Amino acid sequence: MNSTPETNRETPLAGRHAVVTGAGSGIGEAIALELAALGATLTLVGRRAEPLSATCERLAGQGHGIAVADITDHAAVAAAFADAAAARGPIAILVNNAGAAKSAPAGKTTPALWNEMLAVNLTGTFNCTHAVLAGMQGARWGRIVNIASTAGLSGYAYVSAYCAAKHGVIGYTRALALEVAKQGITVNAVCPGYTDTPLLGGAVDNIVAKTGRSDEEAKQTLAASNPQGRLVQPADVARAVGWLCLPGSEAIHGQAIPVAGGEVMAG
Ligand code: NAP
Repeated sequence: MNSTPETNRETPLAGRHAVVTGAGSGIGEAIALELAALGATLTLVGRRAEPLSATCERLAGQGHGIAVADITDHAAVAAAFADAAAARGPIAILVNNAGAAKSAPAGKTTPALWNEMLAVNLTGTFNCTHAVLAGMQGARWGRIVNIASTAGLSGYAYVSAYCAAKHGVIGYTRALALEVAKQGITVNAVCPGYTDTPLLGGAVDNIVAKTGRSDEEAKQTLAASNPQGRLVQPADVARAVGWLCLPGSEAIHGQAIPVAGGEVMAG
């Protein structure tokens, strides 16, 4: 695969190998569909093969594959990404999407919960980035998009570990962006607000348990924090990621872009 493929207006990412973590559900699945529609060849990463294979079957184009790996395991990520590059070419695009959000009051946040949130959301982003960086630097082209959260830009009660991890993701994004600014690589974070995915189930369950509301009413409560009065849809996030990956988006670099209907307004 060439590191500088000719740009086609229909499939501007043709010839680019893109890795999306957490691609078996929710936002990651939508991102994989979007990048494949833009012409990229995908490797889908997650811990369970079945949902990855299901997403893989829905992708436009051919030559896509899956890699089963836990992103918190540095060595496993390095091996899986090396195999993916051997199978589908140098990795030109990395979307660090895999994540998890567990809630607890700060005083009841155990070391285990704290470590788990940092491991998957922050260290996982580091592990995957570390596995692609030298290749992108050698090719002098790359796109790294980190799916952070509005919880990386603002505080939210009862998710202090998640908030700390996502703030860390944005700090890592900004620092790395400065290091690679002259190397043809862009690094950005996308920060969704409440998005209608399986991950939202935990927040919905909490509201149902505490208030006795129905699932639908609980979702409406979360949607009410969005000035547009709706939950963000996975495809909303995916389109922002696709745009950041396009040739011609080079000048957008080191940013943390909310996709949240106006809930958070970055200065
Ligand atoms: P989701 O549907 O639960 O998807 C998370 C994905 O990450 C799953 O496919 C899961 O697959 C994978 N994953 C989790 N831990 C992993 C690990 N250790 N190694 C490899 N893969 C792992 O959640 P989502 O809502 O789409 O979330 C995607 C991203 O968006 C997350 O970073 C989340 O923090 C962020 N986000 C979500 C919202 C929201 O409201 N939904 C808002 C802001 C930001 P396996 O279980 O098979 O590994």
